[in-house]
Amino acid sequence: MTTNQLNDQETDPITGVRSYGIKVLLVDDQRIIAEAVRRDLAEADDIEFHYCSDPTKAIKQAAELKPTLILQDLVMPEIDGLMMLRFYRVAPETAKIPIIVLSTKEEPETKSEAFALGANDYLVKLPDKIELIARIRYHSQSYINQLQRDEAFRALQESQKQLAEANQALQKLSSLDGLTGIANRRRFDEFLEAEWRRGLRQAQPLSVIILDIDFFKLYNDHYGHQQGDDCLKQVAATLAGTATREGDLVARYGGEEFTVVLPETEAEGAWAVAEELRTGVQEQKIPHAQSKVSEYVSISVGTATLVPTQDSKPAEIVALADKALYLAKQEGRNRVMGHG
Ligand code: GH3
Ligand code: MG
Ligand code: MG
Repeated sequence: MTTNQLNDQETDPITGVRSYGIKVLLVDDQRIIAEAVRRDLAEADDIEFHYCSDPTKAIKQAAELKPTLILQDLVMPEIDGLMMLRFYRVAPETAKIPIIVLSTKEEPETKSEAFALGANDYLVKLPDKIELIARIRYHSQSYINQLQRDEAFRALQESQKQLAEANQALQKLSSLDGLTGIANRRRFDEFLEAEWRRGLRQAQPLSVIILDIDFFKLYNDHYGHQQGDDCLKQVAATLAGTATREGDLVARYGGEEFTVVLPETEAEGAWAVAEELRTGVQEQKIPHAQSKVSEYVSISVGTATLVPTQDSKPAEIVALADKALYLAKQEGRNRVMGHG
């Protein structure tokens, strides 16, 4: 049974669950029985009654009507009621609808065969009104509950899927790094590009700092990845709290590498900021038992300064800062090297 089979019902916009009324379809060749059942159900306001006198049309009618219960006569001239049960149970539209067999027969063999073929209940004609209504309500309600559980589950799956997609889209659009909360690589690229063009227009120097945590693989190996993440957050916060001049940008470049863009800044200024960042991280005194250069977490820093020209690109200043960082690592780490 799929959700859209009962689209005439109201849907809760939050849970995605429909409300259902009780709908009974009686399949019986004898109109007199139909009239008796209709009379019995007349005072039950919550039960909508439908009647099908031609069993050959019962499946089709049930598929259109979507009853919450089928009352099926057992002895009919054209088709045996037990055969009908088989049909209901193989047709996807009716496979799960509860069926109460209405029969004049009371032999145990017939009853057990009816149950074996998928009947949910068995009443001898004409049943007592109170019992008939109670059983219709009971079976319909458990069927409705099942439909609503299925719908709630599908709606939940759908909304979880949408949420995951929305989060992914937001993450892509966002300019912030998910772990540290500072600017991400994407923001860095945009910012550098813009500052590069401004430096070109105003013939002003631009500085870039790239820094990398020393022996961070060993830190992760020793303290675990979770604490590695915490360390990255603390380093990011320290950097962001140090390079605070208006117009500067601190970003996570990737992994355990960070970068700072310093517009209108000469090499000496960049060096001074870089040195401040380095000592700032050291002063956090984050223990790093495996580091070969310090008791505490340390960073190696490379700086580069250029005055942008028409035929140069922002990638060049990044490459120079990267080269300086590489030198700082080679020269023993926990130090600043400059270029330009
Ligand atoms: P070096 O001093 O030469 O920089 O050595 P290193 O160990 O820091 O350098 P390497 O590039 O070999 O290792 C970087 C490590 O950073 C490897 C990786 O596990 C870790 N890392 C990168 N991104 C993350 C992250 O988001 N969270 C955590 N916990 N670790 C990260
Ligand atoms: Mg690295
Ligand atoms: Mg490193």
